[in-house]
Amino acid sequence: MTFHHHIEGISLDPYVNGARRKISGDVHPTYDPATGEVLCEVPVSDASVVDEAVEASRAALKGAWANVTPAERSRMLFRVAQFIRADAQRLATVECIDSGKPLREAVGDIETSARYFEYYAGIADKLQGDTIPLGKDFVSFTLHEPIGATAHIIPWNFPLVTTARGLAPALAAGATAVIKPAEQTPLTALMLPEYLEKAGIPAGVVNVVCGPGRTTGSALTQHPGIAHVTFTGSVATGKTVMMAAASHVASVTMELGGKSPVVVLADADREAALEGVLKAIFTNAGQVCSAGSRLVVERSIADSFLASLVERIGAFTFGRGLDNPNIGPVVSKDQLAKIETIVNDSVAAGATLLTGGRVKKPDGLNGWFFEPTVLVAHEPSTKCAQEEIFGPVLTVQIAENFEHACELAEGTEFGLVAGIYTKDVSKALKFSRHVSSGQVFINQYFAGGVETPFGGTKNSGFGREKGLEGLKAYYTVKTVTARI
Ligand code: NAD
Repeated sequence: MTFHHHIEGISLDPYVNGARRKISGDVHPTYDPATGEVLCEVPVSDASVVDEAVEASRAALKGAWANVTPAERSRMLFRVAQFIRADAQRLATVECIDSGKPLREAVGDIETSARYFEYYAGIADKLQGDTIPLGKDFVSFTLHEPIGATAHIIPWNFPLVTTARGLAPALAAGATAVIKPAEQTPLTALMLPEYLEKAGIPAGVVNVVCGPGRTTGSALTQHPGIAHVTFTGSVATGKTVMMAAASHVASVTMELGGKSPVVVLADADREAALEGVLKAIFTNAGQVCSAGSRLVVERSIADSFLASLVERIGAFTFGRGLDNPNIGPVVSKDQLAKIETIVNDSVAAGATLLTGGRVKKPDGLNGWFFEPTVLVAHEPSTKCAQEEIFGPVLTVQIAENFEHACELAEGTEFGLVAGIYTKDVSKALKFSRHVSSGQVFINQYFAGGVETPFGGTKNSGFGREKGLEGLKAYYTVKTVTARI
């Protein structure tokens, strides 16, 4: 079975107003990261196609979608979850091939995507407002109204999960959407309309346009018809998107990555901490915004903890995602080059390499692989301790004691996640209060699920996705007050 076999039957055309829109002109390749070969070429939606998609989503807002009751919306979203689950194997295979991630992780991603639709299906008919007491001469109440047409700019590390994370609450709240997947990984977003249609979601409610960020993405975020932009990606692009949204006073949700610390104190459950640290940085080859990319370990246990860590990494397997290795390829040639540069610069600046550090070509595969790497940063200012690498690279920082660990944990411009392993409840809670971070994970990394609010502080962005908090971006509150 060839890789191409799996993508047969997927329409690569943009999905606009309930139909595939045939376009001619530029195409954009998507690659198999394990081999470096082109998987397929996806037509690029230019500004006029983006315009049609936004207009369709605005028309649906006033028309077909407005006529669907919240209870019916809820049933439709439940059905989307069912159709995704029914096709999970195919979706996971495509996600695995397009992004390079290990198949078991892709399977997890598809289930999480279904969970988003299921979770928000349950709230679609419960988004009610308040009545406000102003005394006997007034009646005052709030209406939660859909924010409008929303734009979703999706990254390549969790293609369908990130799409579902924004789309499901948007639809639950009665908003409509235009989705722009990352140019590296457009395939599962292009499959989504199949399930939406079968679930009965009317034409125009969800549209999918593809192409590079600087053309297709920028046409979408600048479009005056867009009321809210949900963006996940790099800090630099996030700033550009904020400026584009500002041009027409659209609100934004910014999910911008991190440099999240995992603190391991001397009293931690060693096995749980080892497992947690490995999972925190090597899931999806480190290409996770909430990756625990810095290990902050207390000096008294540092040597033996690091020795165990390096020993376990030594047993890791490499390969293409479909073979379920510990470490798959990274998404692109550019990403591989970025990882290599930061590692080399950090070593040149004095960081100590404990294992890995090089580009790798596992058995006959010509794709984009990097060895799982552990670097000790002796100075907090070293690049590997400050910059988001987005690769299988763990930076270690040694702390003299708990207070020093807190200080090191806090020492970057990011604030997405802070993890801690300790048996001391008091220290864990003190740490939770101390850190500036959107999430704190205690004694388990990647703790939580679709139910738990997620987002950043500082350069990691603002706004919250997931959980009930994730709905707030997609409705506006209108207050009606009457003198009677
Ligand atoms: P990026 O931020 O440029 O891309 C993310 C999305 O934004 C893609 O869909 C892209 O097409 C789109 N985009 C790019 N320029 C745009 C523009 N001007 N207007 C509108 N949309 C635009 O990220 P990248 O270049 O793919 O990766 C670079 C780095 O970003 C990575 O190395 C990593 O550090 C970080 N990153 C973070 C996340 C995350 O989950 N927070 C995800 C992907 C990448």
